[in-house]
Amino acid sequence: ARAVASLPGKEYKLEAETELRIEVRSVSDAKVILLQGKAEIFGCELVSDKVVDMRKRTTCAVFTWHGCTIKIIPESVYAYVSDKTPMQFYVNLHEALEQRRCKAVENNTDGPVTMVIGPTDVGKSTLCRLLLNYAVRLGRLPTFIDLDVGQGIVSIPGTIGALHINRTITVSDGLDDYPSLVFHYGSNTPSTNVKLYMTLVSRLADSLRKYWANLPSRCHNGCIINTCGWITDVGYKIIVDAAETFKVDQIIVLDNERLYNDLMIHFGSNAEIVLAPKSGGVIERAQSTRANARALRIKTYFYGDDNSGYTPHVYELAFSDIQIFKVGGPNLPTSCLPLGMKPEDAALKLINVVPEKSLIHRILAVSAALSTDEDIVQTAVIGFVCVYDVDVNRKILKVLSPSPGALPRHILILSDLSFYDIPS
Ligand code: ATP
Repeated sequence: ARAVASLPGKEYKLEAETELRIEVRSVSDAKVILLQGKAEIFGCELVSDKVVDMRKRTTCAVFTWHGCTIKIIPESVYAYVSDKTPMQFYVNLHEALEQRRCKAVENNTDGPVTMVIGPTDVGKSTLCRLLLNYAVRLGRLPTFIDLDVGQGIVSIPGTIGALHINRTITVSDGLDDYPSLVFHYGSNTPSTNVKLYMTLVSRLADSLRKYWANLPSRCHNGCIINTCGWITDVGYKIIVDAAETFKVDQIIVLDNERLYNDLMIHFGSNAEIVLAPKSGGVIERAQSTRANARALRIKTYFYGDDNSGYTPHVYELAFSDIQIFKVGGPNLPTSCLPLGMKPEDAALKLINVVPEKSLIHRILAVSAALSTDEDIVQTAVIGFVCVYDVDVNRKILKVLSPSPGALPRHILILSDLSFYDIPS
């Protein structure tokens, strides 16, 4: 680290309660080093002289409570200092949560259930990270629930899940090796199949309560729930339903007074609603940037990060050894449905998929279910493969997988999401 610290870069001296906002653009990765003082990135403390790697096309802020000196390598990386941060507000939120955790320990009850909501690009995921990291620094082990199927951080897009946090989350952390529970939804917006989305949210909430019931030492730590940025019309209804399903006791609304007001009226005294400011450092992302971020997330799942040198495995699966399903059929009018079947039942229907060339590039989730006697729709998934080729004549499916050898399970669920960056 000392050798790296002597490389040419740019030094920034930060006053107390300011942050250095760093934007690594597409050319190459960057390195951040704390030379003096104390600093943190989204609640994760930096270690003096230790290099923090930042990947290209990422942004972050190095915040200091008491002042520090930071070096960034290379010098050309875009960065600026800001003294207008909402950190004091956020740390107060953390302190209030900690008081509730202490009360939960005292009374032997479940800890605080907090949901972070707001429009897109207001820093929801970042605030979740910060609150989780501050909790871990006090020795708490909270659960992180990610309901964001578009830009979530627990697993690849198109999923929702829970992550049992057991150490601080660093800026370069992929979060892949935390104990997690992931459910496959299959699209990057809840609007594609609202019924399926809500069914999975409810399943996840049940699993969390069961997990806490079985591990009482964990339940006092509470959980932080991240949500999608869709907050109008059906999006609003989904958020309210999800908050009720998880029995949240606090909702943090980032930067939207109208939403704050609507929720105050809706929840009354049943939940505390807090309006929080957004940070001026949060990057607004165009649709194309969001799509790229999703693709990068999937690529990282298969290839690791750019520096890992990891390549996925490609192997063949006989059609006869696997079963592929898709969840949800077309919404047929009642007159076209079998007697007694309601139209919304189609949303959770398991439909058999016959492998064909059109599946190339599509993501398949590997279900934890051992047989179709189980409720496949509501069973967690244990990983993902990407269809590399389909040989209809030989009846063989070639897939890309992060782990070697045969598939641990044989039931696969087709996602709407595709991954195109496949090696030739
Ligand atoms: P989405 O609507 O996509 O879920 P979000 O509201 O969860 O977005 P984040 O993902 O938390 O927003 O933040 C968007 C981007 O802004 C992230 O790349 C994050 O690293 C960056 N960011 C957040 N806070 C800061 C800050 N203070 N300085 C610089 N960058 C920041």
